[in-house]
Amino acid sequence: MNDRPSVLVTGGAGYIGSHCCKALFEAGYNPVCYDNLSTGHRDYIKWGPFVAGDIRDAAKVTATLRTHDVVAVMHFAAFSLVGESVADPQKYYLNNLAGTLALLQGMREAGCFRFILSSTGAVYGNAGRELINETDRCEPINPYGTSKWMIERVLSDYRDAYGFGAFCLRYFNASGADVSGVIGEQRDPETHLIPRAMMALQGHVPDFSIFGDDYDTPDGTAVRDYIHVTDLAAAHVLALKLLMQGHRGGSFNLGTGHGFSVRQILAAIAQETGREVPQVMKPRRAGDPAMLVANPGAARDVLSFEAAHSDLPTIIRTAWAWHRRAHPLKTAASS
Ligand code: UDP
Repeated sequence: MNDRPSVLVTGGAGYIGSHCCKALFEAGYNPVCYDNLSTGHRDYIKWGPFVAGDIRDAAKVTATLRTHDVVAVMHFAAFSLVGESVADPQKYYLNNLAGTLALLQGMREAGCFRFILSSTGAVYGNAGRELINETDRCEPINPYGTSKWMIERVLSDYRDAYGFGAFCLRYFNASGADVSGVIGEQRDPETHLIPRAMMALQGHVPDFSIFGDDYDTPDGTAVRDYIHVTDLAAAHVLALKLLMQGHRGGSFNLGTGHGFSVRQILAAIAQETGREVPQVMKPRRAGDPAMLVANPGAARDVLSFEAAHSDLPTIIRTAWAWHRRAHPLKTAASS
């Protein structure tokens, strides 16, 4: 274990962070999970040491980086619910923005200058019907997206002033679960489309709503680019390898270039499970753009990234396998 280079993974007990810890371990690194367990899961920490800590505690960050001789930081610890960010923006700016500033301060103190940010397609705001390029204007329309966009701006200055190498990986819609079935998408409350629809099928949430069918999209429901979490994790390892070679980083979309509507996702779930998700129609959710689909070309060219697991059947099949394992069935018809 000691001959493996250590990578600090903030939020390593969460959905995407835990998948990255697994990918790091498999690539020969020692993933040090740094998490305050506010939303993370203790039993997702399987691939390296655990440090109970908060990103806002710069001194603890510095001490942890020194203790484990950390070569780079992958930063997942953040709040990430669009609707909640609209209702309570302070929570997002304090944790996501101010927390990241403290984390970066702790890194500078320890002399660690390689950073990978879990960013988001939400930095683009209402991008329209075209595939989104990294060079497109960033005009986030909710505090969650704004908080990530602000961190990207900070990192741009930190690259120039302090010599950070920093990748900002703008995920589109993270989805699916590891093939092992031992880690997956689990939040309380759950608000994301695929897990919430599956929990509705299992009887674990009382209702499922489609938020808006009056968007300017082919079937009126919002369109997103769903990317498998295993592919996201692989992209982080690719970015890390470039940082280790001295790359300065930059901002890259992680998506597939293909969009699916809410109705198409529900149809794919019905196809996989053999059951229709019971649904009601609701108005649009605050802060939701109509369509977000990535142009994945730059990540392919620079990171050599290919989304190998992100076809819709694989996403739905792995997510459903995890849900069936994680949640005991509540309804007789759910088996
Ligand atoms: N959505 C929905 N019902 C739900 C959850 C989500 O109709 O219970 C829609 C949501 O309005 C958005 C899309 O599904 O258009 C994806 O939402 P999600 O919260 O999964 O991810 P986001 O795009 O907000 O990051």
